[in-house]
Amino acid sequence: MTGVVVGVDIGGTKVLAGVVEPDGTVSRTALRTTPGRRVVTSHVEDALVEAVLEAADGRPLEAVGVAAAGFVDSAGERVRFAPHLPWQDEPLRDLLEARLGCRVALDNDANCAARAEAHHGAARGASSALMITMGTGIGGAVLLDGVVLRGANGMAGEFGHMQVVPDGRACECGRSGCWEQYSSGNALVRTARALMAEQPSVLQEMSDGNLDRVTGPMVTAAAEQGDLVARRAFASVGDWLGVGTANLVAALDPALVVVGGGVSAAGDRLLEPARAALQRTLVGAAHRIVPDLVAGRLGPGSGMVGAALLAGQPRR
Ligand SMILES: [Zn+2]
Repeated sequence: MTGVVVGVDIGGTKVLAGVVEPDGTVSRTALRTTPGRRVVTSHVEDALVEAVLEAADGRPLEAVGVAAAGFVDSAGERVRFAPHLPWQDEPLRDLLEARLGCRVALDNDANCAARAEAHHGAARGASSALMITMGTGIGGAVLLDGVVLRGANGMAGEFGHMQVVPDGRACECGRSGCWEQYSSGNALVRTARALMAEQPSVLQEMSDGNLDRVTGPMVTAAAEQGDLVARRAFASVGDWLGVGTANLVAALDPALVVVGGGVSAAGDRLLEPARAALQRTLVGAAHRIVPDLVAGRLGPGSGMVGAALLAGQPRR
């Protein structure tokens, strides 16, 4: 029996594992709930191992790739820190290799998603591309000349904490005015809540009049129903997406910008205002080919697929 390559994506809420075929298709998946950040680290590793073994379904493991929502060192050995997980300088690669008995590769989730989109998705054929993942916050990755940029500490691509507004909104990172406070899933909800004070919205009814109950998917659903508050919230978050992207494009000159993560499911409702803002704010826009902003094609499985791709490559 030939071995399988399994990719596994661990975020703050769930662990998704899947057998990934060489063409990027996923043939069998397994899902676990992430144990949380206040448990002993071995419980998180238990969930990872269980998900991998369930996905493999008794077949031998050839290699396992892990996409982790956190800071992974440049050697791909340790998770230095993860905001929603208990890991701190956790030697995850070696721990999992010992438990799974196969080669394990580890990288940041956005880097993995970029790798997947470059091989099998929206950035296929592009030599240089930016990946911007919009979930709770903003993550990202830089693909330059076919290589995912890791940086000296493995921390390249943390776009969400670029400051876009001096003395702006407070950020969980302790600073203020960070990009993800204006353009992310959280920013979408925050903006919608603020706009609800200005005009009537179906979000009042959807949240039973309790602002704290407004969620990102709720704003998406309201926008689809034509709700003006929800549409204005998307226009704002999309505009900020374009403004921040213009800074990145000025620095890196990619051929394409791929937007992934949960918020990207809104498609052109998010991307149209972003394209307009990119065109408006990018330096030299009239004298260059302004890169297109497109939604990722691989959806929530992109981290898992990219992790498996990494596991199938020679060790760095
Ligand atoms: Zn920040």
